[in-house]
Amino acid sequence: MKKILLLIISLTIILAAQDTSNNPDITQEEIKAHIKYLASDELEGRLAGSEGGRKAAEYIKDQFTSYGLLPFYNGSYFQEFEFIQSIELGDNNSINLSFGDKTISPELKDEFVVAPFSGNKTITAPLAFAGYGISSSKLKYDDYTGLDLEGKIAIIMRYNPEHDSAMSEFDRFSSLRVKASAARENGAVGVLFINGYKPNKEDELIEFKYDRGPLMNDFPIVHVKRNIIDELLKSEGFDLAELQEEIDKNKSPKSFVLENAKAALSTNINEVKAKGNNVAGYIKGSDPVLKNEYVVVGAHFDHLGWGIDGSLYRGDEPMIHNGADDNASGTTGLLEIAEKVAANKELFKRSVVFIAFNAEELGLLGSAHTVNNFPVDIKNVSAMFNMDMIGRLNDEKSLTIIGAATSSIWKDLLEESNTYNFVLKLNDDGWGGSDHQSFTLKEVPVLFFFTGVHEDYHKPSDDWDKINYEGEKQVTDFVYNILEKTSGLETRPDYVKVERSAPKGGGGYAKVYVGTIPEFGWNGEGFKLGGVSEGGPAQKAGLQGGDIMIQFGDKKVANIYDFMYGMNDHKPGDTVKVKVLRNGEEMEFDVVLESK
Ligand SMILES: [Zn+2]
Repeated sequence: MKKILLLIISLTIILAAQDTSNNPDITQEEIKAHIKYLASDELEGRLAGSEGGRKAAEYIKDQFTSYGLLPFYNGSYFQEFEFIQSIELGDNNSINLSFGDKTISPELKDEFVVAPFSGNKTITAPLAFAGYGISSSKLKYDDYTGLDLEGKIAIIMRYNPEHDSAMSEFDRFSSLRVKASAARENGAVGVLFINGYKPNKEDELIEFKYDRGPLMNDFPIVHVKRNIIDELLKSEGFDLAELQEEIDKNKSPKSFVLENAKAALSTNINEVKAKGNNVAGYIKGSDPVLKNEYVVVGAHFDHLGWGIDGSLYRGDEPMIHNGADDNASGTTGLLEIAEKVAANKELFKRSVVFIAFNAEELGLLGSAHTVNNFPVDIKNVSAMFNMDMIGRLNDEKSLTIIGAATSSIWKDLLEESNTYNFVLKLNDDGWGGSDHQSFTLKEVPVLFFFTGVHEDYHKPSDDWDKINYEGEKQVTDFVYNILEKTSGLETRPDYVKVERSAPKGGGGYAKVYVGTIPEFGWNGEGFKLGGVSEGGPAQKAGLQGGDIMIQFGDKKVANIYDFMYGMNDHKPGDTVKVKVLRNGEEMEFDVVLESK
């Protein structure tokens, strides 16, 4: 007997020593093992839709299975969704310019590029020069006054008449998207952008780089080298340098229709679609009543792959962005907490769901998809805890927590759970930064844990050997304790709506306030609202989440940029008629704009 028992004990010890993946406690060894794998070159930076991303999802699923979590998505651990991963040029991109007795066909890439938000269209139309393409009653400046642009292609200079000043009232009318919207609004059928002679002396063409915004349906937009268009203007007696000089000097437009010129434009951009999975498992709560409520713990597992836009790496060699801190660290926290919860099920009265989100780096796409396709009524989610970058706790032990006022109980709970003496940096609102925002939109109290930005952020150097493993264990313990307490509360945390603090700098945004919150990942026609700010103009007027805005004042709204362009030309106090589609039905509201 004794001998056998001894044998069993020693076998157990050997097994335990070999396999570090089944200690139900949150340990530094396991944290290191998970991060080393998730942030290894084998996973190639876990880009959503890539092979490395799929391997990461499989790994998380296997861990969830081994802990004994139940599959959350109707019998599956995976929730698949489709998204636009990138854009590429199709075969049909060309320009033919005819003027005088000449026809010129600029070379794609060398002499012209297609704007990355251009629609796909083939047109032949006359041309008009529309200066900077800016129209603002507030600035008393309108390149479209007296210009018959109907059915024509607008030639528009980049920048604005105050291109020499670092900050100008004109800046927010100067983005190419805003200008393209304005041109379309004024009757143009396409836009041909050029650099003026200032400030871009080198005449560099814009980059063909996906900005994750919607393409402008059926509206072709290109950028052509200056000398080509200058030659065309000269054929009718105009000189681009002189035109720009005069516009700049007098702040007065010089727009005109070209009598004997036309352009044939063909633009052809393909959206590259990809599929990805969110991964989720759960445990049933131990209380017969409270188990019908859910506490969600989440972390995104995707990263930037070989460096999609969003990368801050500026080297020439392509490199894998391993994303050890962003967000192998949070994913690992999620795994370790899930393992410990699964081993202590009886302590959790409410059900606990563990979700690894995909495509966060592409704009919170996975979490947006999950909250809109939630397997249980999302009203039964009583709290959500998000971890994104928890691996770089510094010497001062400062830990940022966002959403601290989204429930009235959070601050006390955070204080009393702070056994590691973190220096807590609390942000009240639940907006911005990461996937908790998708739950804020659904009025779920959230807490988002974050050890801060560092110099390796979104660079290939965000590697496993820079993680503070002791710090990460402490943060993970902290989240676990808060989760356990929350799950056992007699009454669920109340939800407190906290206004989003105004974005700093406000680059490109109007000074009027409408109080609309965009729905992330929306790619259809119109501007879809994920929600409206409490007490804001949109809410007061009767707008609500789910509405699709199609008209703002006299501006048609095909996407969020048209809406921003529409806002630009209003002042606080204006009443604007806003048309929306609600459940397919057209409705109109009077929105009284406020100041920011
Ligand atoms: Zn992240």
